[in-house]
Amino acid sequence: MVYDALTLFDARLANGALADLTVADGTIVSVVSAGGDGASAREAASGVSGAARARAMSIDSPAFDDVVRGRADLPAHLDLQGRLVLPALVNGHAHLDKTFMGAPWQPHRVGTTVPARVGAERDIRSTISESVGDRSAALARAMVESGTGTVRTHVDIDTELGLSSLESLLELRDALRGVLRMQIVAFPQSGILASPGVERLLEEALIAGADVIGGLDPAGFDRDAARHLDIVFELAGAYGVGVDIHLHELGGSAVEQYHLIAERTRRVGLAGRVVVSHAYGLGSIELDLARRIGHEFGEAGVAVMTNGPAGPMPPVLAMRAAGATVFSGSDNIRDAWWPYGDGDMLGIARQVAYQSNFRTDEELEIALDLVTHAAASAIGLDRYGVVAGAPADLLVLDAPSPAAAVAGGSGDRIVLHGGAFVAAQTRETHLAAPALRGAVPVRP
Ligand SMILES: [Zn+2]
Repeated sequence: MVYDALTLFDARLANGALADLTVADGTIVSVVSAGGDGASAREAASGVSGAARARAMSIDSPAFDDVVRGRADLPAHLDLQGRLVLPALVNGHAHLDKTFMGAPWQPHRVGTTVPARVGAERDIRSTISESVGDRSAALARAMVESGTGTVRTHVDIDTELGLSSLESLLELRDALRGVLRMQIVAFPQSGILASPGVERLLEEALIAGADVIGGLDPAGFDRDAARHLDIVFELAGAYGVGVDIHLHELGGSAVEQYHLIAERTRRVGLAGRVVVSHAYGLGSIELDLARRIGHEFGEAGVAVMTNGPAGPMPPVLAMRAAGATVFSGSDNIRDAWWPYGDGDMLGIARQVAYQSNFRTDEELEIALDLVTHAAASAIGLDRYGVVAGAPADLLVLDAPSPAAAVAGGSGDRIVLHGGAFVAAQTRETHLAAPALRGAVPVRP
């Protein structure tokens, strides 16, 4: 007998086709699309009867509203009425431990250099009474609410914190199993060479359960790029984990480090498991040189993460065309580094699209790819997508197309994780002004 079976009728796939999805034991079993609106052809292919379709609860019905409000369980047959279904969003770079979410608002303190910001962060951290675990949970909740199914979070490892924040996140990962998949990067926010003792702590973090080894501005912060990278890659090789390096530097220094990273990726055999996060430098050099580095990264298996910053950022289209994987994460959300953010990866896709001057549907779909398939590939999710065999981590959107969802037209959201209903966002607007009551509503 199959438990937790679920059929989703009339799901709109990213390519516009209508499909029926069957889910069992948390996994997508079949995605049957007959093209156009051919429900009867889909029934024949999926083996789900027309009677089941007729019995299905409509997502637009009051009965489903009861499901959303927790007054009823998700039915076995749900008619999505043509809602867009995407794979749950992937946040490929976050800092759950740093957020002030769940704590009172903290005004931003200005710091112009990385060391100055690290110092300011330590000061603020000592004044906040809410625990790392509680604040991380608040942000994780916001991520799930808006449709994120997997997050890669960096966690600070330094001589003051030791492994305490890591331990909080390992606990949170366990607590959220069934709701949010979490990868943890052991991140030397205060440097490795600049902070004697951190190298040993990073190794202990990997032993304790961190999934990935991080790095930070090998030249700019630690002043010895080769040595910093050797430590990081040696730990990766020894513990069989991937690498994710924050690299904020610009110009020639950044280019030198890109080469050092690609060279070590090849030497240690880590193709497809190495990320350069931010890589602002790619936006500070000639486009031709950025393309050559994109080619080198593509060949070596080094991916690039961008969150669409206001300053220099990687040229997304050129890097992709050169063969490199480019993907996105939120980076900091309401913490000592950055006061912005709400955990919504569609918002990050929009930010990257905006900063990249994307306008066409094709470009907006690329922005969505950065927070879905490209991110899944970069962080090593082996089964991902609205395809048979992938976990049923799904985001149901009231939007006519992926491009519209990125541009700002996403309405209500339903979030499924492992086939279970885990969250919904519904939007209700109440018009009081008589002049607005007769106005044509904005279509989602
Ligand atoms: Zn970061």
